[in-house]
Amino acid sequence: MIDSHCHIDGEQFDADRDAVVERARGAGVAAMLNVGTGDPRTDDFRRAVAVAEKYENVFASVGVHPHDAKLYDYQAEGHLIGLIRSSEKVIAWGEIGLDFYYDHSPRDVQIEVFRRQIRTAQELSLPIIVHSRDADDETVEILREEYSRVHADEGVRGPGIMHCFGGSSRMAEDLMALGFFISFAGNVTFKKAENLREAARVVPLEKLLVETDCPFLTPVPFRGKRNEPSFVVHTARFLADLYELPFQTIAEGTTSNFKRLFGVDVQATI
Ligand SMILES: [Zn+2]
Ligand SMILES: [Zn+2]
Repeated sequence: MIDSHCHIDGEQFDADRDAVVERARGAGVAAMLNVGTGDPRTDDFRRAVAVAEKYENVFASVGVHPHDAKLYDYQAEGHLIGLIRSSEKVIAWGEIGLDFYYDHSPRDVQIEVFRRQIRTAQELSLPIIVHSRDADDETVEILREEYSRVHADEGVRGPGIMHCFGGSSRMAEDLMALGFFISFAGNVTFKKAENLREAARVVPLEKLLVETDCPFLTPVPFRGKRNEPSFVVHTARFLADLYELPFQTIAEGTTSNFKRLFGVDVQATI
């Protein structure tokens, strides 16, 4: 299994990062994608890449989160591109997108920076990691526009991942039509998340990924505790029950989707 989206470079893991990675491996998590976030004028992204460099089968992604879109400029872009060139472990651009729930950056700036980062990722041939909250229609519209210009030839990697999926089944279908993978986090296990389970039912195994988004969104039965990559197993198990498929099928299917999307080779540990 693979945790397709985690934030283990954060200070919440400073005290026990080695043990967290070890526990994930012990639980059958073959690889993790550590998504860098923060202020592009600081060392935040360098730290995310350093964690990927340190551990085997931990990869990294860099991109400016919609919260910080107001900090994105030419210099930030150069910094991120430099980090991508500095390490083979950086395999994606993100997380990028729109967050109209918190509105930490003005919406017009979020939209402009989202488009700009999509185009840069396309130039670099990198899949993107998309974040969308309370902006589902706008997100789909932008992705449709930006990816209809690009022809997905056979063999070209998919456009990317809709991470921590929180939209409708219609949104999932629209995104899959564009070639996106749909990644579910621990919130799909929450009691009140019937709408998410409804969306999960339209996602075929070939388009499915699982993630923790740790340290946030701890799945049942650990809700309330700090989340960590080993807990992705609970989300995968939950989805296996939902799809009425063996756990092993979900684990293998999501692992091979990740490898196909990013063109990386990871040996499964289960
Ligand atoms: Zn996110
Ligand atoms: Zn995240």
